[in-house]
Amino acid sequence: MSEVKLAVLGGSGAGKSALAVRFLTRRFIGEYASNAECIYTKHLSLDGRQIHLEIYDPCSQPQRGKLSLTDELHWADGFIIVYDISDRASFAFAKALLYRIRESHIGACKKMLESAVFLVGNKQDLCHMREVGWDEGQKLAMDNKCQFCELSAAEHYQEVVAMFTKVLRNVTSNFKVKEKRRPSGSKSMAKLINNVFGKRRKSV
Ligand code: GDP
Ligand code: MG
Repeated sequence: MSEVKLAVLGGSGAGKSALAVRFLTRRFIGEYASNAECIYTKHLSLDGRQIHLEIYDPCSQPQRGKLSLTDELHWADGFIIVYDISDRASFAFAKALLYRIRESHIGACKKMLESAVFLVGNKQDLCHMREVGWDEGQKLAMDNKCQFCELSAAEHYQEVVAMFTKVLRNVTSNFKVKEKRRPSGSKSMAKLINNVFGKRRKSV
C-alpha cells in the first residue's frame, strides 16, 4: 500500500474543487463549498498496486499573503496547479505558484519536480471566452519543466482521470526511485497533517 498526497492549488474559482470532486465521484455538480479547506481520501488500485490517496483542496478565499506554501510543500508528494483558460489573473497566479514550488525544490531531485507537478488549464469548454492561449500554458509548463494539459472538469471526465492517473504514476515511481517509504511513525505523521490542515476530512 502506498500513500500519495496531492495538493490541488490555483486561483479562486479556477476549478480546484470541481476537478477533485470530478475525479473522486465522476460527477460535476457545478457549485462547491468555497469557504472550507478539506482533504479528501480515497483508496484505489493503480497497476495492481493499492494506493491510499489524499487530495488537499484549499478554501477559495483570496489567499493574500498565503503564497508561502510552506505547509503544502512539506505535505504534498505531488501538485496539480489549476488555472482557468478564460481568466488571465488565474494564469498569473498559477505562474506564481509554479515559481514558488520550483524555488523550493532547488537542490532537490530535479526529476522529481518534473514529474510530480502538473499544470492544468481548466474550463476548456469556455474556449469562446479564452484569455490564455494553449501555447502560453505549454510554454509556462516547459519553462518550469512540469507537465501540462488543458481540459474541462465540466465536460471531460476521461481527461480528468487520465491527468490524475499520470500524476499518481509519476509520484509512485518517484517513491521507487528515492526508495522513499513513509516513516514508521505514521500516526505522528497523521497528527502533523491534522495540525497543518485542520481535522476536516471527507471520505468520498
Ligand atoms: P475553486 O475555487 O478553484 O475550487 O473553483 P470551483 O471548483 O469551486 O469552481 C468555480 C466555478 O467554476 C464553479 O461555478 C464551477 O461550476 C465552475 N467550473 C469549474 N470547472 C469548470 C469547467 O470545466 N467548465 C466550466 N464551464 N465551469 C467550471
Ligand atoms: Mg474550491
